[in-house]
Amino acid sequence: MIILVNVDIKELIDKERFYPWKKLSCCPKCEGKVWGHGFVQRWLDVSDSPLFLKRFFCTCCGSIMCLRPNTHFKGFYYSIKQIYSSLKKRLLANSDLPNIYNSIQYIWMRAFKQRIIRANLSTPFSTVQLSLFEVLVKKDIIPISRSNKLKSDTIYYQPT
Ligand SMILES: [Zn+2]
Repeated sequence: MIILVNVDIKELIDKERFYPWKKLSCCPKCEGKVWGHGFVQRWLDVSDSPLFLKRFFCTCCGSIMCLRPNTHFKGFYYSIKQIYSSLKKRLLANSDLPNIYNSIQYIWMRAFKQRIIRANLSTPFSTVQLSLFEVLVKKDIIPISRSNKLKSDTIYYQPT
């Protein structure tokens, strides 16, 4: 289970395993007690080396939860901001961001169009509206995901 949280990225890059992650008060699934469960390393576009992301383990249902910066969708290397900028540039200026492979940006746009149709927000013949990006996110749908599952099982959560 991925839990998106506010993270000070600069501090996380600096402190690595010693970043002060806030502890989960309980398991979001069953409200059971959670223990720290080490770290997982993930590549994100904010750093030249993989980041250490904190994991927790639920002693009750056995779920493993990984905290992830809420600037990035589950499973994506590029930030939400970059992805949004790319879609915007393609839709408004019919061009790509210079710093990301065109093929990736093409895939995002195609996936975005498909997600909109699958979520019944538009038809294949309508013009794609950038505002639907936010609409999809609010419905817990990653706008550029190509997963068979429409909804992501990401939890947006701020541990206390
Ligand atoms: Zn649990």
